[in-house]
Amino acid sequence: MVAKGLKDYAEEKGLKISDGVAYGVIGGYMVTLKEGYGIKEISVSGAFTDECARKVTEFLQTPGAKKEYRIANFSILREGVIIEVTDTIGTMKKIREFLDFLPNFFRETGVLADGFCTACGNQIEPTDASKIVLINGMAHRVHEGCAGSLMERANVEQARHETEEKNLGKGILGAVLGALLGGVVWAVAYYIGYFFAIIGALIGFLAVKGYEKLGGKVCKAKMPIILIATLLGAVFGQVAGDVAYIMIEWQYSLIDSIFAFIYVFQDPENAEFVSGFCVDLAMGSLFAILGAIGVLKKTSKENKGAALSTKILE
Ligand SMILES: [Zn+2]
Repeated sequence: MVAKGLKDYAEEKGLKISDGVAYGVIGGYMVTLKEGYGIKEISVSGAFTDECARKVTEFLQTPGAKKEYRIANFSILREGVIIEVTDTIGTMKKIREFLDFLPNFFRETGVLADGFCTACGNQIEPTDASKIVLINGMAHRVHEGCAGSLMERANVEQARHETEEKNLGKGILGAVLGALLGGVVWAVAYYIGYFFAIIGALIGFLAVKGYEKLGGKVCKAKMPIILIATLLGAVFGQVAGDVAYIMIEWQYSLIDSIFAFIYVFQDPENAEFVSGFCVDLAMGSLFAILGAIGVLKKTSKENKGAALSTKILE
């Protein structure tokens, strides 16, 4: 997406807007700009050697640069750099300054500019047929004959990234740990009597974050894993809240408290307690599931731009 601020800038700099991005040459480099969730993304196409990548990383990591240009995140690929800038008031001004500075910095660093093919690194002569391709949201100018190979290389890199670095087992562990952490908050709230179903949303949120933080694979199993972990966290939280109550109020040991809880739960005389327990659990679980789905939707929207996509723009 390209909102007003970027649109104005794009017009001013003569960038084109297509496929949810603004792209064109700024300071001799092919730049792509787009909006993200709470960020604006600046991509600069160019062939990054290891030496270039090292120098650029060094600079982008300095606290001064991070603060000055509001750099939230960046990644350097062989065919360019992606920089995420925190989007708050005045960010467009920072982006202007950043893009006045970056091309010169890249030139000094030795990053090949527009006019050199990102795929093969050779100059694109005026007589050569060239294409502008959009790969994962970043525009590149390449020889017509190189377009296919660059797109193929991007596909291979993306596939490797998805299969090798992401791990389903770690994702499950992360989701469960996140949900249990949320469950602890739930238990404390339940114990002190401030139970709000909205805490359920926290469980869902932490389950998703846990999954992603530990490097869970982006695949079909992600959603069911997170939902199961979320429910687990909700049940754990509520049972733990009551068990903690028994431990503290009745001065029982942990094991005795668990048995006491089971006993109370089974006794028909406590039907009222059990139904209250179930209503709270159902409400909290509902919020937990809604919370998880909400976060998942948001991240899948974010990933849509980053997910593998290749297209010839012109
Ligand atoms: Zn080429």
